[in-house]
Amino acid sequence: MSVTISSGLLRLLVAQAAASPNAEVCGLLFGAAGLIESAEACANVAANPAQAFEIDPAALFTAYRRVRGGGLAVIGHYHSHPSGVPVPSPRDAAQAMGDGAVWMILGGGEARAWRSVEVGAFVEQAIEVIE
Ligand SMILES: [Zn+2]
Repeated sequence: MSVTISSGLLRLLVAQAAASPNAEVCGLLFGAAGLIESAEACANVAANPAQAFEIDPAALFTAYRRVRGGGLAVIGHYHSHPSGVPVPSPRDAAQAMGDGAVWMILGGGEARAWRSVEVGAFVEQAIEVIE
């Protein structure tokens, strides 16, 4: 499987991560199936944002209310690894629900995408970049 994202949106997310060298950035990904149509930055409310992320619950609530109102589905989320390695951490794996959600991880100037296919595990997804 793969995820598809526009080059402009991908650049924006990579830049957002690069602009935050000391704390993980995070946000929600909206779209359908494997197509990421938009992204929304959210506050990282983790107690230790240098090493973890937790999407602001208020932002989640607002996003899901919008989905119920007919908006684009939440297909996953993104976060950054200021350490520069965009690979799921053990902490990320502990939060993998096996729900098929897309996890885009940014670090070291690049993005990699993963999907949580079973509890505690990810499968990497090819990223198809479109104009
Ligand atoms: Zn992580």
